[in-house]
Amino acid sequence: MNNCVFCRIIERKIPAKIVYEDDDVLAFEDINPHAPVHTLIIPKRHISTLLDLTDEDLLICGRMVKAANFIAREKGIAERGFRLVSNCNPEGGQVVYHVHIHLLGGRQLIAPFG
Ligand code: 5GP
Ligand code: ZN
Repeated sequence: MNNCVFCRIIERKIPAKIVYEDDDVLAFEDINPHAPVHTLIIPKRHISTLLDLTDEDLLICGRMVKAANFIAREKGIAERGFRLVSNCNPEGGQVVYHVHIHLLGGRQLIAPFG
């Protein structure tokens, strides 16, 4: 998808600080971090929103969460705690229409969603 910023990161057409990659998943630092750790985990296949996930994508979803756990451990925030967030559609706050999970941590996140 030419007009998708995250596909362009996957294709290395725009730069990003990549912290994890496997056959199905890529993770890179958010350009506008809201916490000391703010990493985005995305499927390499373009999927616009959570609503577009199919049964065939279940494995990829699991791999995204597994990657988030791996990155949280690597960054030393696993035991202290972290948050995974995925926004869907306008009222959910989705801005980039390529499914992604935000990994947030490294500070006390305000309960429940601040
Ligand atoms: P959303 O609001 O769609 O859940 O989150 C999109 C996230 O992507 C935002 O936190 C935003 O800072 C991040 N973002 C948007 N464009 C870029 C970019 O070109 N590079 C990186 N690294 N992050 C981006
Ligand atoms: Zn895309």
